[in-house]
Amino acid sequence: MWTSNFGKILSEYQHFMNLNHYFSLKAYNTFSIEAVAKEFSVFNTPEELEELIIASGKHHFLVLGGGSNILLTKNYDGYVLKNEISGIDIVKEDEHHVYVKAGAGENWHSFVMFCIDRDLAGVENLSLIPGNVGASPMQNIGAYGVELKDVFHDLEAYHIKNKKIVTFTHSDCRFGYRESVFKNKYKDQYVILNVTFRLDKVPHYNTSYGAIEEELKRLGKGVSIQTISQAVINIRSSKLPDPVKIGNAGSFFKNPTIPEEKYAKVLPAFFAFCRKYYETVGYRTNMLCVGYRVLKDRESLLSYSWNGNMITIDPVSTANPGWPEFLTAYNEFCSNNGGVPLLNQTPLLTRAQVEKALGERWRTFGEARRAHDPGNRLLSSYFKDLLGE
Ligand SMILES: Cc1cc2nc3c(=O)[nH]c(=O)nc-3n(C[C@H](O)[C@H](O)[C@H](O)COP(=O)(O)OP(=O)(O)OC[C@H]3O[C@@H](n4cnc5c(N)ncnc54)[C@H](O)[C@@H]3O)c2cc1C
Repeated sequence: MWTSNFGKILSEYQHFMNLNHYFSLKAYNTFSIEAVAKEFSVFNTPEELEELIIASGKHHFLVLGGGSNILLTKNYDGYVLKNEISGIDIVKEDEHHVYVKAGAGENWHSFVMFCIDRDLAGVENLSLIPGNVGASPMQNIGAYGVELKDVFHDLEAYHIKNKKIVTFTHSDCRFGYRESVFKNKYKDQYVILNVTFRLDKVPHYNTSYGAIEEELKRLGKGVSIQTISQAVINIRSSKLPDPVKIGNAGSFFKNPTIPEEKYAKVLPAFFAFCRKYYETVGYRTNMLCVGYRVLKDRESLLSYSWNGNMITIDPVSTANPGWPEFLTAYNEFCSNNGGVPLLNQTPLLTRAQVEKALGERWRTFGEARRAHDPGNRLLSSYFKDLLGE
């Protein structure tokens, strides 16, 4: 009896010591937005997480990783739990693969570098994506033709209500285009604790996407996971500002999506558009290689599936000259067919196209942005044009 009371008091004391009230999140989101969390705690282990959850008596939290995929438009009137579970370890090896387990609080790029330094292949194209390991399965992060699901093995997550750790296999996660079960069915129910990845001993290079081949040629050091990683780092650094220096939420969107009900009609029109473009201009795109269904999502203001289910059309660059001009025409094609542009992946969008697709929501975003950044410190010239400021 005495010990259980003592245990309770100790846990409450620890919670009290680790609990911050009205805590600034400015340093915890890559937009550097000054928003205040009503309550804020950091946890370093699953045990600490459990203690915090039990002591708080709450069931709803905002779990924070690197803060690179959240837009805080106002103060957060709840409890923020900052995941800082660390550790990267090789846990298993077989003939073709090495299995690496990483704590959810590890920085994603540090994990990528851990693999590259040990000649473990599969994540080189995902270099320099901001954020932490724990958030990577949430939206099945992807870049340059590779997605998290290609290297994912399993993960452990803590169920907030049942107070249990559950293992999720690849199929349990239901990965899709920037989708997983954690964004839908199990939204806000689990805290991801660690992720185990299956890396290849023999690399299968993927250099066809974006400008990787061009950059590899420029580097002149041949093709390896190290040079691909370097090429991706160079391309990303030249395209996007470092969020540490200029607040932003990156280019995590992909190409425009088309309303599901229009897709069957738009697809043949897209092929005809590509053919005509080739015949008249001479530029050939690699045809659609993948189409994802993106489920209706009203959680985020600028979600591209806000008005209903959408499907992607994803033309792929051949890395030949003429890609930017093709994208300009392609944006117009999508806009004319009810497409919703996915902001900043395509730097050639026009204000008219964005306004047509997002309407009132674009104005709301503009107002929120101005309110949080009256001096326009975070406003790039691209967004200045798109917002008409
Ligand atoms: C400059 C820039 C470039 C980017 N480029 C890309 C890109 O190429 N491809 C891409 O896919 N994304 C990209 N992104 C988006 C971002 O990097 C990813 O979404 C990343 O996975 C977010 O990680 P985070 O740790 O910062 O998540 P946070 O912003 O902290 O959280 C995002 C969401 O996940 C939840 N969450 C976080 N950790 C956990 C956890 N352990 N358990 C449960 N829920 C959790 C949060 O509650 C929140 O809902 C980019 C962002 C920036 C700023």
